[in-house]
Amino acid sequence: MEERVYNFSAGPSQMPVEVLKKAQEQLLCYPGAGCSVMEMSHRTPAFEQILHNTKDTLRRIMSIPQDYEILFLQGGATTQFSMTAMNLAHQGETMAYAVTGQFAGKARDEGARWGNAVAVSSSKEAAFSFIPAVEKLPENAKFLHITGNNTIFGTCYNDLRSKLPTEVLPGTNGEKSLVPLVADWSSAILGRWIDVPDYALIYAGAQKNMGPAGLAVVILRKDLLEREIDPVVPVMLRYKVAADNDSMYNTPPTFSIYMAGLMYEWVEKMGGVKALEAVNREKSGALYDFIDNSVLFRNPVAKEDRSIMNVTFTLPTAQDTADFLALAKQKGMINLKGHRVVGGCRASLYNGMPMEGVQLLIDTMKQFEKEKRGI
Ligand SMILES: *Cc1c(COP(=O)(O)O)cnc(C)c1O
Repeated sequence: MEERVYNFSAGPSQMPVEVLKKAQEQLLCYPGAGCSVMEMSHRTPAFEQILHNTKDTLRRIMSIPQDYEILFLQGGATTQFSMTAMNLAHQGETMAYAVTGQFAGKARDEGARWGNAVAVSSSKEAAFSFIPAVEKLPENAKFLHITGNNTIFGTCYNDLRSKLPTEVLPGTNGEKSLVPLVADWSSAILGRWIDVPDYALIYAGAQKNMGPAGLAVVILRKDLLEREIDPVVPVMLRYKVAADNDSMYNTPPTFSIYMAGLMYEWVEKMGGVKALEAVNREKSGALYDFIDNSVLFRNPVAKEDRSIMNVTFTLPTAQDTADFLALAKQKGMINLKGHRVVGGCRASLYNGMPMEGVQLLIDTMKQFEKEKRGI
């Protein structure tokens, strides 16, 4: 086998070797089934058990209350940009969007195809380097959509309550919020604790912290399923249809669901989401500390809004950036290049990235800085 490298990609991202090995072991023959999960009918007890175990494990590791439904859907997180609007608002109605980055903007664009998608906050003028507070919602907003962790810019809603108006949050005795809060947590789900009852709906693409691309997980309050849906909404884009059919209205992405299940079991075995969050804080903390004390590397994000999953950093010139990326590659670290819209570098430190990978990155940055200063 060729040697594995440290993959700092924002997604699809590095998965724990242990999880890949388990999948490899069971690839030809899933225990008791006589075939691969890929070859299994989704209508068999064996697959139904995989699906239900996967769902139950996610419910445990995120402490998802029973009045929330869990759905496994296709089309990645991007399809949720449309589904959230089509299921929570009627055509032409008003929806509020916090525009804190590229994906947040795309979510709003999809909302605008459906209704009156109002940007209630934006940090675009500041190159999305911080999370602006939402002061006020438009009248009759059917929901507020936020992007919990901004994968490209490395920002995060670290403290929901300091950034959002009270009407989108549950009451102090757990009463439902006046306006549903919808959050895209694609790049931080399972990497940091998310209090599910704070939200009406959470969604996430799987390829950052939960397995292979294409799958999206949606966690939503069951009362939202009872809303009347406009007739034009296609059957595959209705949460109610997915919920009534146990996420199997059509053939679900069976192998991706199985892989997500292996990831959830791994999270549980590692001590759960809070234990992994502590590790992720250590990993990102070490990297931010180095950057803050460096004369060469810089991070542009407001400290209180920094993401523990995606750490962005810049070097003085494009040539420095290219040289650094080449050195990193030589040392077995790939995908450190920043997103094409921002440039610079980005290290994504999801659950699958071990501390040793982050330490190697920091050591390499140190070496690079020393050599540059020696010139
Ligand atoms: C990656 C990402 C998406 C897009 O996910 P797809 O599965 O490619 O549709 C959306 N939102 C956020 C925050 C992301 O990180």
